[in-house]
Amino acid sequence: MGSLSVAYPIDLHTHSLRSDGALSPGDLVRRAAARAVRVLSLADHDTLAGVAEAVAAGEVLGVRVIPASELNTESEWGDAHVLGYFIDPTDVVLEERLRWLRENRGRRIELMIAKLSQLGYPVSLQRVLEIAQGGALGRPHLAEALLEKGYVRSYDEAFDKILAKDSPAYVARVGLTPLEAVELVRTHAGVPSLAHPGTVVGLEALLPKMVAAGLAGIEAYYGEHSPEMTERCLALARTHHLVPTGGSDFHGRGEHGIDLGAVFVPPETIEMLDSRRTQA
Ligand SMILES: [Zn+2]
Ligand SMILES: [Zn+2]
Repeated sequence: MGSLSVAYPIDLHTHSLRSDGALSPGDLVRRAAARAVRVLSLADHDTLAGVAEAVAAGEVLGVRVIPASELNTESEWGDAHVLGYFIDPTDVVLEERLRWLRENRGRRIELMIAKLSQLGYPVSLQRVLEIAQGGALGRPHLAEALLEKGYVRSYDEAFDKILAKDSPAYVARVGLTPLEAVELVRTHAGVPSLAHPGTVVGLEALLPKMVAAGLAGIEAYYGEHSPEMTERCLALARTHHLVPTGGSDFHGRGEHGIDLGAVFVPPETIEMLDSRRTQA
């Protein structure tokens, strides 16, 4: 495929150094403008921190910047990443939640507290946070909370009987599930699309569940998709009434040899995505 920049004016999947990209949000938009990209979505992993800078640069250069974030998930479904479009970059509750998720320890402790509650040892997250005093959360804080509640006679007993690796309250894995990621985007008035579906294990089985949770799009246009994979995604989009989205997944280090705007995305995609927004 040729690389005439005018033919590819839209890129709905890019990253800046606010997550794991190489360029600042402003430089990313400047590069996009130089490549005639007219609509750009900054979708840094688990953060909205770069959006304001990108929007400001876009206003100067005539590039429409759609705020987004790409949420990573942890599950048996492989790499199921969820792009959340039109998220409000000033949504401090969401940013706080994303920050929380970035801190895997916090998420893990949250899950362990839920398990402890099911096991008959309820402790409050609030109290555990107080015990931690701003430190990185871990099982020692849970042990202290359990001791404080009188569920155990000693800190060691809390660890050995309740929090040990082979105990029922133990949680190793951390992160959102794909369904939780979709729900989080919807809760914050965003429009969720499944990123690079080729990395999902069991796509046909997972997709209906994600649709039921509020998924609105599927990334059909992607640099590493074969024509067959793109067709497969477009067929899934028709079946599940999803908007086919697309982008370069540009990180700025020449990964995959795909530059900004170099993946074809039909112009009507923007309106279709916009129509899938719901009132918050
Ligand atoms: Zn991804
Ligand atoms: Zn990405």
